[in-house]
Amino acid sequence: MKNSIRKILIANRGEIALRIIRTLKEMKIISVAVYSEADRTSPHVLAADEAYLLGPAPSRQSYLVMDKIISVALSCGADAIHPGYGFLSENSVFAELCVKNNLIFIGPSAQAISAMGSKLAAKEAVSKYNIPMVPGSDGAISTIEEARKVTQSTGFPVLIKASAGGGGKGMRIVWKEDELEEQLKRASSEAASSFGDGSVFIEKYITSPRHIEIQVMGDHHGNVIYLFERECSIQRRYQKVIEEAPSCIITPEIRKKMGEAAVLSAKSCGYTNAGTVEFIMDEQHNFYFLEMNTRLQVEHPVTECITGLDLVREQIRIAEGHPLSVKQEDLTIHGHAIELRVCAEDPANNFLPSTGVLNRYKRPAGPGIRVDDGIEEGSEVSIYYDAMIAKLIVHASDRTQAIERMLRAISEYEITGVATTLPFGEYVLKHEAFVSGNFDTHFIQKHYQQEHLKKTVPSEIVELAAALSGHLYHKKEQAAEPIQETGEELSAWRNRRWE
Ligand code: ADP
Ligand code: ADP
Ligand code: MG
Repeated sequence: MKNSIRKILIANRGEIALRIIRTLKEMKIISVAVYSEADRTSPHVLAADEAYLLGPAPSRQSYLVMDKIISVALSCGADAIHPGYGFLSENSVFAELCVKNNLIFIGPSAQAISAMGSKLAAKEAVSKYNIPMVPGSDGAISTIEEARKVTQSTGFPVLIKASAGGGGKGMRIVWKEDELEEQLKRASSEAASSFGDGSVFIEKYITSPRHIEIQVMGDHHGNVIYLFERECSIQRRYQKVIEEAPSCIITPEIRKKMGEAAVLSAKSCGYTNAGTVEFIMDEQHNFYFLEMNTRLQVEHPVTECITGLDLVREQIRIAEGHPLSVKQEDLTIHGHAIELRVCAEDPANNFLPSTGVLNRYKRPAGPGIRVDDGIEEGSEVSIYYDAMIAKLIVHASDRTQAIERMLRAISEYEITGVATTLPFGEYVLKHEAFVSGNFDTHFIQKHYQQEHLKKTVPSEIVELAAALSGHLYHKKEQAAEPIQETGEELSAWRNRRWE
């Protein structure tokens, strides 16, 4: 079965839409953007060959309206839909709807999404393959008696998780027995209201874990390969902020074991296309299956750097029916890559979302630097969508040089108008725990206090300084006065705002 794809609709926005469009251009495939009223002039809209309005800004009225997206795809003559991540990417109903309308869904089958979409179903599917699981309940827990039975064997603390949870939401830690009943009630009612599915289950809470995940890729000819690991332990609110590949604690033996476990997980549900198997690793380096994400992942660029593959191109070729372009034994790791999620959040104020207009936006450049973004100078960062505005990715020959390169890139990156995670990134990359590789998912709780960034100069002053610097420069041009020093001092002072 080979279907040559001529035109693809990208059912997404922001950096990931733009990133997909770039590969389509290289492959000479026509790109179709869709957008909400808030995104009329966004870079993904301008970059695409064609663009169609979906509706008002809220995603429920635009990026999540399945019928509208399908009808746009059909009327513009698209052959396929790429869902990106978030939005409809893990929605089996949408995947099914595409197929019913003769559109290729660039991702796994609807059945594979259903099998892995809920954490409980995923655990059930992989449990037959001897893949290590976090000790805990076998299925959903609905009564306190069932919960007590589980905690008798796991002990405390435990984590109550929503089966349909995602994006770090729907988890509660229970430290001791007498909190169990109350937390179980809260977790189930929260899960029902937030995810429309009240099922929760219990896992032993691993106290000093690392989050390590394996990228997999499967074709329609029965081949599944693993593209090594990504270390994603630097997190806030159970969500990743910094990711790297490879992980500095993984030996070739563990890598092979985890890779093979990930391939088995994928095979357990006849998985095709790109996917990620997430594991949690304890201090003794035992790893346990967490969940499978049935889509292209935010942090896929670090894998692209170390393998030299374009994962979006692979996804499209697989969707066309081609076999994988590489074999497991041909894959090797080249150098080291690190990604920092540049989120419009204030790391000096509990990572609260920050909105505003990007008065100044200047990307870093030079050797080994990649910026995946979906914004421009003058863009508005609104409350409607995810706070991640860009991803800063560096690639170097080893981890030490990748850290040095990331620090240079951060110092070159200029963003004003919103607070971002750039200063937090700088803090982490200079920290001894990160540099030595001795960290876990609690880096923030253990090593970071907001005061570390409090020296931050308020943005009004930075803007004033920028204006003053421009004024001095102008004066210098006019009068050829020897004001070089003042200008340099100012720019050194501006750069120091991240310290
Ligand atoms: P990744 O594992 O790719 O890093 P994240 O967990 O950070 O994924 O989520 C990627 C995107 O998908 C984010 O925009 C996040 O908000 C969104 N997302 C993931 N799962 C859900 C969910 N269950 N409900 C709503 N949004 C989700
Ligand atoms: P999500 O769907 O929100 O991504 P995950 O199950 O992947 O949910 O977990 C997200 C994060 O929560 C992990 O990266 C890890 O930091 C933490 N976590 C999940 N399960 C456990 C556990 N059993 N013990 C300790 N931390 C956990
Ligand atoms: Mg996860």
